[in-house]
Amino acid sequence: MRILKLQKNCLFPFLEAISKEAELWAPVAKGDKFAFDRVADFSRIAMNATRTIIPAKKIMVPANFNMFHFTEKGYKEDLSHVTDRILFGVHACDIHGLLTLDKIFTQVYPDPYYLEPRKRTMILGLSCWPDEHCFCKSTHTHIVEEGYDLFFTNLESCFLVWIGSSRGDDLIRLVPDLFDENLTEKDIKTYIQWQAERDNAFKTEIQFVRLPDLMELNYRAPFWEELGAACLACGSCTMVCPTCNCYNVMDKQFLGEKPGQRIRHWDSCTLPEYSEVAGGENFREKKFQRLKLWYTHKLQAYVSKYGKPSCVGCGRCLVTCPVQINVKTVAAALEGQEPEAFWKNLAKEATR
Ligand code: SF4
Ligand code: SF4
Repeated sequence: MRILKLQKNCLFPFLEAISKEAELWAPVAKGDKFAFDRVADFSRIAMNATRTIIPAKKIMVPANFNMFHFTEKGYKEDLSHVTDRILFGVHACDIHGLLTLDKIFTQVYPDPYYLEPRKRTMILGLSCWPDEHCFCKSTHTHIVEEGYDLFFTNLESCFLVWIGSSRGDDLIRLVPDLFDENLTEKDIKTYIQWQAERDNAFKTEIQFVRLPDLMELNYRAPFWEELGAACLACGSCTMVCPTCNCYNVMDKQFLGEKPGQRIRHWDSCTLPEYSEVAGGENFREKKFQRLKLWYTHKLQAYVSKYGKPSCVGCGRCLVTCPVQINVKTVAAALEGQEPEAFWKNLAKEATR
């Protein structure tokens, strides 16, 4: 792995050169939030963006797409939405989110609808600074050693650029003169200082190592029903989570000769229909049962299988859930604390 230096005023010329190779996508401002979007005008790129509303998974598996066309004679795969892309500005936690999806979409049957866009999307990571909702230091996903082609650390005077793959190296070779191989002692000291200051900037900390046991011990704890009473079953927490990957398929048929379509769309385990089977039986009819499934998967089951939680500490559920059901408030409840969250206050009012 090589680390190069890029002066700040060389970033746009670099992006100009690489955007001739593939569609360039990056975080841009969307109101007071951020979203990944295709960019031609690089001044739109939000270099200091916090989390995007939807993570990079939307580039790999769109929320809604056609898998194949079918007729009575057979079917024809449709990957027309897949194109060569360069995704710039992906934060370390979101790269870990993609590494989690890589495991899930290859564990039994490799999923071509995920793997093909994944292969054709180059990942250019960018360092970030935590806000009060980030807790990726607790999940050890604030740093990343794999899963990117290039990674840019944004220091005050320059970028340090990690080359993570031969494809990343090829991008550098398009304009090698923009980069400097000679890092000075001052650059190294600046980087070490930046890293220490960034580590100290995290305001939220969660002890993930205790959570699998606490999930087991709290399996019948009353707070699950309190969560269920407040939850709106809107599905937002799963839509914004970089590691949530459930989907459903439905067939669209047309009159006449027009081929039918097999549509794949994001699904959510918090929605009532998720656990419904033929005949109308629903194995998780109650909202608390569905929430318990979600947290069991994030904090316990994935840990037993892969040795780490399937939460990357991005803070999206913290800023998205309208009733403050999120990893932070649930972890506090598991620890026996009284979280100052909407759902907890609702439960207190109900018992008055
Ligand atoms: S559970 Fe919440 S904080 Fe963790 S990765 Fe998902 S959205 Fe981010
Ligand atoms: S936990 Fe919050 S975001 Fe998730 S479904 Fe319930 S209300 Fe919606």
